[in-house]
Amino acid sequence: MIDVKLESVSKRFTRSGEAAAVDDVTLTIAAGEFFTLLGPSGCGKTTTLRMVAGFYFPTAGHIHFGEQDVTRLAPNKRDTGMVFQNYALFPHMSVAQNVAYGLKVRKVSRADTARRVAQALTEVHLDGYGTRRIDELSGGQQQRVALARALVIRPRTLLLDEPLSNLDAKLREETRTEIRRIQRESGTTSLYVTHDQAEAMAMSDRIAVMRSGQVQQIGTPREVYHEPANAFVARFIGRSNVLSLPVTSAEATRVGVALPGGGRVTATAPDGHGLGEGDTALVAARPEHVVLVSPEEPDAIRGTVTGVEFTGMATHVTVDIGAGADGDVTVAAVDVPDRVDVGDRVGLRLPAERLWVVRP
Ligand code: ATP
Repeated sequence: MIDVKLESVSKRFTRSGEAAAVDDVTLTIAAGEFFTLLGPSGCGKTTTLRMVAGFYFPTAGHIHFGEQDVTRLAPNKRDTGMVFQNYALFPHMSVAQNVAYGLKVRKVSRADTARRVAQALTEVHLDGYGTRRIDELSGGQQQRVALARALVIRPRTLLLDEPLSNLDAKLREETRTEIRRIQRESGTTSLYVTHDQAEAMAMSDRIAVMRSGQVQQIGTPREVYHEPANAFVARFIGRSNVLSLPVTSAEATRVGVALPGGGRVTATAPDGHGLGEGDTALVAARPEHVVLVSPEEPDAIRGTVTGVEFTGMATHVTVDIGAGADGDVTVAAVDVPDRVDVGDRVGLRLPAERLWVVRP
């Protein structure tokens, strides 16, 4: 069942000239889904969310909640709960008063309010914190209060705008797990905004990757990771290598390309890729799928190591493969057999079954 629908939604802040902040965005969010808008700063995520909330009206297009057209409906008539980056809590009120705020506005009885506030605090694991002052809480706890306040009114849609950006790295990971658990338990349809691809991948049912106001791709985390629609998505999600390689053969969903080392390899391509022999294909390869081999190996792509980065989980080795082949390739080797150092000559192998042709 579709819960939220954006149909060719655009927003221009200025009348003339400048590009639209949001440009012809169409997407649907299913009931209970956790849907994320992901993209770099200024790509129009917040503006899109604010149109769903009703803080901005679109310049063009329509927004539906179920059957209802809410395009020009006031924010307080939309039945949405909001969670912001800066928590937006009332510092002079207690935790319980903050959570109760939306119920008071809706004139819910005192007894019901007390019961629902207690339940909401239990849901966010803040039992016993009701009488605390906001400034006596950690950032993570404050964000959970904000979440309880948004959910206590049982909104039809939960809107979250970068709710974790003020938290340190460790707390950010813990809190994202908490948010997802609470969202799952309440079953509230959610629209989440972030510029952090790891966060989007970890939390979302589906992701819309945005750039310059436009949606580049909508898909599950696995789809946008393994089958990026274009070079931008391939580079933005994870750390893809995107190589420009000459096409040697082309079929419906397979494209043969020539490698810098002299070898040939066949990559998977999306339907209707339109490439033919003699064209240049953009081929995406994830660092974890590129294999470090001896430079003596026949047909290996040869290059010089320019960087070695130990991350704990893997070692990222960056290799300059020379001009005409897009410069650097990063390899994430889980096991670097022998010590690899900057300046070493190495070979690379691209496994055909993991190569994916992307659009420019
Ligand atoms: P960030 O991650 O930095 O918050 P974002 O993806 O949420 O970025 P938006 O805040 O939606 O991006 O902004 C999209 C574009 O619209 C930007 O170019 C921004 O400068 C412009 N913009 C946003 N709000 C306004 C406004 N109230 N008036 C004029 N221009 C605006």
